[in-house]
Amino acid sequence: MASVTLKDVRKVYAGGVEAVKGVSLDIDDGAFCVLVGPSGCGKSTLLRMVAGLETISGGTVDIGGRVVNAIEPSERDIAMVFQNYALYPHMSVYENMAYGLKNRGTPKAEIEARVGEAARILAIEPFLKRRPRELSGGQRQRVAMGRAIVRKPQVFLFDEPLSNLDAKLRVQMRVEIKRLQRQLGVTSIYVTHDQVEAMTLSDKLVVMSGGQIEQVGTPTDVYRRP
Ligand code: ADP
Ligand code: ADP
Repeated sequence: MASVTLKDVRKVYAGGVEAVKGVSLDIDDGAFCVLVGPSGCGKSTLLRMVAGLETISGGTVDIGGRVVNAIEPSERDIAMVFQNYALYPHMSVYENMAYGLKNRGTPKAEIEARVGEAARILAIEPFLKRRPRELSGGQRQRVAMGRAIVRKPQVFLFDEPLSNLDAKLRVQMRVEIKRLQRQLGVTSIYVTHDQVEAMTLSDKLVVMSGGQIEQVGTPTDVYRRP
């Protein structure tokens, strides 16, 4: 686990779009921070800068006491869960979950133990030999989360992970993520435009608008205000 500190973080895209206009934010060890706001307000850009998928135009991103501005995604101790799952179609569920660990040279027995544990936590043990196309949307999203969990990262990043699911599954997975949060306690940053997700999942809620933070606090603080 690690704290995440953003200091005056900015992003200007080629072409001049100012997507993030000086965001400062402290996320404590083990906190679940949700970034919420309308489409285009800069949430995804901010998350992608923390992930190292987007260059940082100004300010600093600090993960666990280390400024990571110029550090490659693979060198940051983070795992990201994407909206479109980003699973490898030609690999089985097991191979998808094991892939990142294999690349890091984790011993086979350790990989088996970690994938087994994550599969148990997420109730996807029966599907380990299947390909992603043989799974439902909810099961695929569980695999995507499993792939993040097995890494045992310091920080989880979630980019609208539930928006491709139908309403019923969204509620189910929300409960699942909440349970994982309690069980694992890993520092998390979660991007969504869904206020219900934001309210139910967050310890720390950040409302963004036009590339800036508009409000920050506990969900009750934020939603109590007029
Ligand atoms: P959100 O995640 O809140 O929907 P984004 O971070 O995706 O917002 O986008 C913030 C702003 O930056 C928008 O105006 C969007 O059009 C712009 N933007 C996002 N990605 C790029 C890009 N690769 N190049 C140029 N502009 C971009
Ligand atoms: P999100 O809101 O989840 O970021 P989008 O559909 O806005 O999803 O963006 C999908 C992809 O297109 C992202 O990689 C984003 O960086 C890029 N993108 C978004 N807006 C622009 C833009 N105005 N110009 C170029 N690329 C963009």
